[in-house]
Amino acid sequence: MLNETLIAELRSILGDDSRVITEPQVVEQLSKDFYWYSPVLRKQLDGKVGDVVVQPLDAAEIQKILRACFSQNIPVTVRGAGTGNYGQAVPLQGGVVLDLARMDRIESIQPQGVAICQPGARLGMLEVEARKAGWELRCYPSTVVKASVGGFLGGGSGGIGTVANGNLRDFQTVRAIEVVTMEPEPRIVLHEGEAVHEILHAWGTNGVITRTWLALARAVDWSQCVAAFDTFDAAFDFSEQIACGKEWTKRLVTTFEWPIPSFFTPIIKYAPEGKSLIFFLIASTQCAALESAALAAGGTIPYSGAYAGLNMRPLLSDYTWNHTTLWAMRAEEAYTYLQCGFDPDAVRDQMRRLRGKFGFEILFHMEFMKNAAGRIVPGAIPLIYYTTEERLNEMIYFCREIGVFVANPHVNNVEGGGRYRADNVQLLAKQRYDPKGLLNPGKMITFHPESSTAGAVK
Ligand SMILES: Cc1cc2nc3c(=O)[nH]c(=O)nc-3n(C[C@H](O)[C@H](O)[C@H](O)COP(=O)(O)OP(=O)(O)OC[C@H]3O[C@@H](n4cnc5c(N)ncnc54)[C@H](O)[C@@H]3O)c2cc1C
Repeated sequence: MLNETLIAELRSILGDDSRVITEPQVVEQLSKDFYWYSPVLRKQLDGKVGDVVVQPLDAAEIQKILRACFSQNIPVTVRGAGTGNYGQAVPLQGGVVLDLARMDRIESIQPQGVAICQPGARLGMLEVEARKAGWELRCYPSTVVKASVGGFLGGGSGGIGTVANGNLRDFQTVRAIEVVTMEPEPRIVLHEGEAVHEILHAWGTNGVITRTWLALARAVDWSQCVAAFDTFDAAFDFSEQIACGKEWTKRLVTTFEWPIPSFFTPIIKYAPEGKSLIFFLIASTQCAALESAALAAGGTIPYSGAYAGLNMRPLLSDYTWNHTTLWAMRAEEAYTYLQCGFDPDAVRDQMRRLRGKFGFEILFHMEFMKNAAGRIVPGAIPLIYYTTEERLNEMIYFCREIGVFVANPHVNNVEGGGRYRADNVQLLAKQRYDPKGLLNPGKMITFHPESSTAGAVK
């Protein structure tokens, strides 16, 4: 438990009691994210809570909070909107939850298409503001409406738009990041160019992101379209053809085998019994051509219409990426998921082998993505009918054995989650910026305080 002296110090730093929260129910709520998505993490993380939540308004306040916590060896876990699904924002060792929801300003959309934001800015708001200026997000998670920019950089990877523009960490989408360090005298450090990779996807373990520079894409007038096919093979072939065809301007190509569409209750009228579906966001100028191509390939079009923004219904992206898992879990609690990367040259054989070994314990939900080399590759967030942890691990091992990459969403550390960098730059930054290991402790397991370059700090 925190001592009263620290709480009093936090109150005096913020000069506003309402931004230092100690009410147990609120602290508990702001200590959780979507870790319960994983039956494995649910067991590990239930009951983990911080001691106090503080809500700073700017980097200067964060510097003062971190200085106070550093001097008393108090852990600090940064929180955006808490939509992460690896328990990334769950404090393992109590302490302070640094909730950045109030640092939500979009400072500017620059004429060359770069957005400058505070970390708590909602991605959905940024998309709306960017579109007003003729731009749009290059990629965003399906939690776009709620998720924050800082949380996306700290814990996300990609989503809608990735088929056209790659993942968040690719193609210099993140131009610069400003962080506050966890040192005796916390500094504000700007990371530009390649140096952003020291901070990206480090789960708030090596600095608190206080300002971001994000490159945008030119806005496109989009349409939504659902195509239905009798077999998953036919749906997959067609989706691959559109995803890989350079002539198609698309933002989303998602393929589901039956019975996954049966879980989408609000849009069930667009999910004909037994059919595999593809959800597209396609340039409006190409929508009619896409429909004709789907019909020629033996499909039907249960739905198509103009895209009118994130508040419209139906919003097809609400059923894609990791939202698919959410709909499945609502239908049947036993479902969980994996995050996979298939080999574009062997994907059909890999899927055949998985089906042969695990039958319908694994259901195919594919997401096409542009990789860092510019190639369109089939990613997947397959649904897994969970029985035991051993069986889940068996699936993960088998995937890896047959060349399917797995970013394991059932582990609670940066290294295990699949986006840890082989050049160790995130770890090296932690050694520099958080020598005592107080930022989100326990989440970067290769870090040991004694190996820190600032080891002299006590
Ligand atoms: C239904 C569902 C669908 C999802 N779909 C996608 C998807 O399509 N693509 C995808 O990439 N993710 C997806 N996610 C995961 C998550 O929603 C996104 O990654 C989202 O961008 C996280 O933002 P957040 O503000 O909620 O972050 P949080 O959950 O609050 O934080 C995520 C991590 O970042 C750290 N962090 C937060 N703010 C900062 C900061 N200012 N400085 C340093 N570290 C910080 C936190 O400590 C934590 O480790 C999904 C999750 C759910 C539940």
